[in-house]
Amino acid sequence: MEINKFGIIGAGQMGNGIAQVAAMSGLEVIMNDIKDEFVRRGLDTITKNLARSVEKGKMTAEEKAAVLQRIKASTDLKDMAGADFVVEAATENEQLKFQIFKDLDAICPSHVILATNTSSIPIGRIASQTKRPGKVIGMHFMNPVPVMKLVEIIRGIATSDETFKLTWDLSLKFGKTPALANDYPGFIANRILMPMINEAVYCLYHSVGSKEDIDTVMKLGMNHPMGPLALADLIGLDTCLAVMETLYNGFNDSKYRPCPLLRKYVEAGWLGRKTGRGFYEYK
Ligand code: NAD
Repeated sequence: MEINKFGIIGAGQMGNGIAQVAAMSGLEVIMNDIKDEFVRRGLDTITKNLARSVEKGKMTAEEKAAVLQRIKASTDLKDMAGADFVVEAATENEQLKFQIFKDLDAICPSHVILATNTSSIPIGRIASQTKRPGKVIGMHFMNPVPVMKLVEIIRGIATSDETFKLTWDLSLKFGKTPALANDYPGFIANRILMPMINEAVYCLYHSVGSKEDIDTVMKLGMNHPMGPLALADLIGLDTCLAVMETLYNGFNDSKYRPCPLLRKYVEAGWLGRKTGRGFYEYK
């Protein structure tokens, strides 16, 4: 099956990044969010990213214009009726994703693959909301999408070989390196990463160290490019909390309990970079 038109649900930090790489690979893209201002913000981010690439000589102004021209904005999910492949990258909330998949299943022709960029929610649970579980798959991009090479591909229990092959090949077309994970909460990436971030938050909560010292230890001691608290701010503390809750509930294991300090920050609306304040403050 040939993929020409690519749909993306959610124009947030992941959605707009995925739209950018899809458009850069030559696909026509429809980027959907619930409000016009959210889609516009996503388009602004893409425009700024591409302008930086032009400044650095990685792309010409004509190429930038052509990429932008391939991205259409949408606030109506029905626009996905024309897409050949859809990736959902809306907020990490199970009920929200269930509804989106039910709606997409009704809107998109039955041959269309519906992928999710979920960080942790089991693919089988999402697939069961549709009448096409064989065509539902996890396509988990890393943040920031235009920079990070990895795409974690997650096969649900019912995902067909054909769906898997098409999704794997699409990742390659995007210039990414895919890795295969089986369908358990958090998959590979967040099964390992999030408990580490959560433990860093516990270190702060228990005053084992200041945020700066915790991040310095992991950067200089473990050679991580970013400290775990700065990384949590980049990911979004709401997403980190949602992933920990999926791990905790999915395995029924107290070792995954989210740190109360993480919950407190999320409840205060301190979600990290996207709200200007998380463990650190951002202008
Ligand atoms: P974000 O908060 O930046 O963006 C989410 C977007 O989804 C928002 O613009 C919101 O308006 C939109 N949205 C909410 N409901 C919607 C609906 N019904 N229809 C269309 N759009 C809707 O979040 P994000 O960081 O981009 O995360 C999106 C997804 O990607 C989540 O599932 C998250 O777990 C996953 N993810 C995040 C990261 C990361 O580092 N942040 C990495 C990999 C995967």
